[in-house]
Amino acid sequence: MGLVEELEIVSAAVPLLIHPIIKGVWQTLTEYLVAVGEWAVGMKVRTGDNSSPHEADHTIVIGGATTLDSAKTIACIADSWKAWVGELKNVPDDRPSPSLNPVGPFFAAALAAGEIFKRTWGLRRGRFLDNHAYSLWKNSMSSVWEELDAGPALNELHLPPFVLVGAGAEGNALVYVLTHLENRDMYPVLVDDDVYDKTNLNRCSLAGTEDLNQEKTAVLASRLEAVGIASFPFSGDLKRFVNDARAGMRADVAEEIGAGSYSMVVSCVDKGDGRQDIQGLHPQWLLGGSTFDLQAKTNVYAGEKDAVCLGCHNAREHQGEAMRGIERQLRAMSHQERASFLTEHGLEVAIVEEYINDSHCGHLGRAALMDFVSTPPPDFSVGFVSLGSGVLLAASLFRNLLSGETIPHASGMTTFNFLNGNLGEGSLARDPQCQICSKAAEYQDSISEP
Ligand SMILES: [Zn+2]
Repeated sequence: MGLVEELEIVSAAVPLLIHPIIKGVWQTLTEYLVAVGEWAVGMKVRTGDNSSPHEADHTIVIGGATTLDSAKTIACIADSWKAWVGELKNVPDDRPSPSLNPVGPFFAAALAAGEIFKRTWGLRRGRFLDNHAYSLWKNSMSSVWEELDAGPALNELHLPPFVLVGAGAEGNALVYVLTHLENRDMYPVLVDDDVYDKTNLNRCSLAGTEDLNQEKTAVLASRLEAVGIASFPFSGDLKRFVNDARAGMRADVAEEIGAGSYSMVVSCVDKGDGRQDIQGLHPQWLLGGSTFDLQAKTNVYAGEKDAVCLGCHNAREHQGEAMRGIERQLRAMSHQERASFLTEHGLEVAIVEEYINDSHCGHLGRAALMDFVSTPPPDFSVGFVSLGSGVLLAASLFRNLLSGETIPHASGMTTFNFLNGNLGEGSLARDPQCQICSKAAEYQDSISEP
């Protein structure tokens, strides 16, 4: 059962201005949003007129609406790179923004959804956000909206071709932002070996019920195509992609990748070995998005000596340990217990049994368990955190490109914590055990010695 039982949209009859991500023709924004609810998760969305909203557990106001009970109501506004969330009584007095930049509005959507989540599930730590403004241009926060920098417009933004690895929730969020850019001249190469299943739909913003069991990359490519953006979807893991013939890929991009050169790679994968494989491509420019509990993070890896790399803290051995743990746990169970545990977690009983009974054959069982131990449980990945992470990633990408650098000069990490509303920049220390950068570092040391 979903967290949201019912949704009602109350809006004036305004025309649809954004590019729709689903096929159809709509006269108004409300009509479109109703269709999206049905398409995304099969949810019935009611509509009401301005004067008489129904009683609801929670109300979100976009902009200011003074007629509502302001104590119970969460409000949000956005302008260009800025987003604000808080109680309705604190909403900044600002005119509707003419900006076409999707960064602030998408972040405001994630903030509002996060507040609903916290108010519904209850807070054991953290706080409700009552008057919180953010600028993703400066990565700064304030309680005074006017103080924050709205940043430049994005109409001059030019994205070079890039490889996006991972078409799950964060990959979806990043692509969702891309579909709202004014400049559609881009060419994402999408790599992921998975298909959409039921547990994905609530947090993959560009996948709807009709996309169940469809290749994740193909679905993203069709959403991009719907708004006039060309892309190259590849359904398979990174190793297969690297060795693939790249038939149908834009010639200049295929040539660069064929030569083993990766100028820009974006990582939206959540597994340690996948991250190691990406770092192993040695891209000139590497950005990564990730989530942890209710924190959204994005990292820029500039490759300086002594800087953290994507392989750091993502060692493959950790999986070995987790594998030994799950094997011990499974062997300690009765046959019956094991069968119900495996079924409950969506693992195929027969193939895992084969592996547990004779770990020298059961390769399929081993692969299934490996996948199980290295995937974070879906309950912990909430849609708005992935959306937040995708938006932070997009902001980081756009900021670096607008600053005119051809490759980033410094590594860095941006973290937003939905629990307490903190937005901050920081850096992570390099992992001395890292199999990728510690070798590179040793190599660097040995060639620089006299
Ligand atoms: Zn490393």
